[in-house]
Amino acid sequence: KTRPRVLSGVQPSGDLHIGNFVGALGQWVEMLDDYDCFFCIVDLHALTSTRKATGSTVASRARDVAALYVACGIDPSRATIFVQSQVPEHSELMWLLTCSTPLGALQRMTQFKGKSGQTDSIEAGLLVYPVLQAADILLYDTEIVPVGDDQRQHIELTRDIAQKFNAVHGETFVLPRARVPLTGARIMGLDDPDKKMSKTDAVIHPNHSIGLLSSESVIRKRIARAVTDSGDYVEADSEALSAGVRNLVEILASFDHLSFDEALRRVAGESYGKLKETVADSIVSTTEPIRERYEALRADEAELDRILQDGAEKASEVARRTLLRAQTALGI
Ligand code: ADP
Repeated sequence: KTRPRVLSGVQPSGDLHIGNFVGALGQWVEMLDDYDCFFCIVDLHALTSTRKATGSTVASRARDVAALYVACGIDPSRATIFVQSQVPEHSELMWLLTCSTPLGALQRMTQFKGKSGQTDSIEAGLLVYPVLQAADILLYDTEIVPVGDDQRQHIELTRDIAQKFNAVHGETFVLPRARVPLTGARIMGLDDPDKKMSKTDAVIHPNHSIGLLSSESVIRKRIARAVTDSGDYVEADSEALSAGVRNLVEILASFDHLSFDEALRRVAGESYGKLKETVADSIVSTTEPIRERYEALRADEAELDRILQDGAEKASEVARRTLLRAQTALGI
């Protein structure tokens, strides 16, 4: 039997942060051997959040993300890396799915409620975004979607959409499930530990996050400024930790491949200053080699474009077959 199919993606909407790494990219690397992996750069999704983005900035950011995927260890000879907009089947299947997705289900999505609450004028793209995501996943007969905690609800919706389509039109789609890591599934903002670390907040609040490509001095400065509380020492009881301290221990656990409790045992009793030093050391030692590899990879645009073209061809082959199946089921 062929290996189970995996698909996941990141939006090229800004600099990738350490949350994207521990919630997504870091998990992906570990799946390369046992799964047939498709990793997408979801540039069509990025159009919903980067209001002023032009096609050219999105395209150049897509190359940034591709180089970062490879720098993180996603070897293009062992995974299919591609840009969403280069495989037009995504948009096409999305429409077919949109026609049977209940409006109420989309309006109930936590991410939509959060983002639409922040502004007066909301584009329809923000609402129907999870249907495009469902198309991304279903096109590849995906069984497992490795994502951070924030995406759980969207994967559930994808299952619902697929299940309903199969029930009405006959077996067409494979039902996917989310795989969320035990630690690092939801890294919080360093400036506000009640809010998820995100690319969009990173643009507005400079102390919000650490980029995967941040220099050592920036990493140390940002961690040193991370919000903690009025205490001095790390409590041994996890229940007693404030959100900021808990987040730092969670980051340490994720980067050092420990469970939360193991990481907490390691730092319990330390001063917050020492904790921050330990966390910064851990981030630096993982991200430094990524940064070095990235510089070389990003400099060779011809090679990046070759990787992406090759990926788009492989992805199209699968996507075309699935779209045809859906069209046939619908009788169009
Ligand atoms: P962002 O919200 O930063 O723009 P994306 O929507 O592009 O990120 O998500 C890319 C992947 O990174 C998804 O799998 C998402 O669940 C994961 N992710 C995003 N933010 C975090 C976070 N703060 N902690 C853990 N995983 C995250």
